[in-house]
Amino acid sequence: MNPVIALVGRPNVGKSTLFNRLTKSRDAIVADFAGLTRDRHYGHGRQGAREFIVIDTGGFEPEASSGIFSEMAKQTRQAVAEADAVVFVVDARAGVSSQDHDIAKYLRRLGKPCVLTANKAEGMVGAAQLSEFYELGLGEVHAVSAAHGQGIRDLIDLALASL
Ligand code: GDP
Ligand code: MG
Repeated sequence: MNPVIALVGRPNVGKSTLFNRLTKSRDAIVADFAGLTRDRHYGHGRQGAREFIVIDTGGFEPEASSGIFSEMAKQTRQAVAEADAVVFVVDARAGVSSQDHDIAKYLRRLGKPCVLTANKAEGMVGAAQLSEFYELGLGEVHAVSAAHGQGIRDLIDLALASL
C-alpha cells in the first residue's frame, strides 16, 4: 500500500489548499482506499514514480469549541492514526499560536514522523520570522507556499524520506 500522509494544523493555515496542490484534482478525492475509511478527504498524490495518499483534516466540531480534542477532533485524530507521516502545517505569516503549541504537544507524544511546514511563506523563504517555529520542538521548519506552489516537491521528499 502507498504511504499515507496526513495534513494537520489549526484552521485556516492552508491545509486544504495544500491538499488540492498535492492531489491536483478534486475529482481524484473520492476513491476506495483499501484499509482506510472511505472519505472525501482522501486523495492520491504522485511525485515522479512515487505515489502516496494524502489525508486532509480540519473538520473540527464547532459545538465542542475548546481544548485540544476539539481542534484535533475525532476525524483528525483518526487521520493521524492512519498516517505513516504527518505534515504539521503552521502559518508563516501569523507566527506561532497557542493552538500550534497544543497540536505540537500532541504530535510530539505521538512520535510519528512529522514534517513541520510553514505555509504562506511565498517571498519569505529563509526569512528570520520562521525561526520562531523551532520552539514547537519538532525540529526543522520547512517553508512552503501552497497557493503559489513553492517548496512542495521538497516537502514531499522530506515526508517520504521520514518514513
Ligand atoms: P485550512 O483551513 O487549513 O484548510 O486552510 P485553507 O486551505 O482553507 O486556506 C485558508 C486561507 O489561506 C485561504 O484564504 C487560502 O487562500 C489561504 N492560503 C492557503 N495557502 C496559502 C499560501 O500559500 N499563501 C497565502 N498567502 N495564502 C494561502
Ligand atoms: Mg480545510
